[in-house]
Amino acid sequence: MYCPKCGSKMQEGATFCSACGAKMEGESKVIITEKAESWSTEDILSVASIAAGALGLLLALLVSVWFGYILGGGALACALIVRKKNKNNQKALIGLIVSIVTLVCSLIAHIVAIALLASFGDLMGDAFSFFMNMMN
Ligand SMILES: [Zn+2]
Repeated sequence: MYCPKCGSKMQEGATFCSACGAKMEGESKVIITEKAESWSTEDILSVASIAAGALGLLLALLVSVWFGYILGGGALACALIVRKKNKNNQKALIGLIVSIVTLVCSLIAHIVAIALLASFGDLMGDAFSFFMNMMN
């Protein structure tokens, strides 16, 4: 560490600067301790957001894209509420990303499903007219 007054290098944790004799103020002596992590409402909402987003993505791909929309939308709302209260909440940021991924994936899956159904319908239509032509 360096003396804040004269800038000379000094021993780690020293109380006085050996060059100018300045007394070290609190901040340089304070041992930075991580605050014990406790679960706040924000954390619970954030984790719920991550869980709902992930579950929504899974159900959207396995069952129905509507699960993705509903759970992803709920997850996004939770994450946004927390982010509005506390911009530094990392869990809420993850929830935000997960929920957006879920919503985007659901939308893509929905579009793909519609496109597949449409092309399947066309195929059936083609097959139908093909057989009808065969008959005639
Ligand atoms: Zn000094």
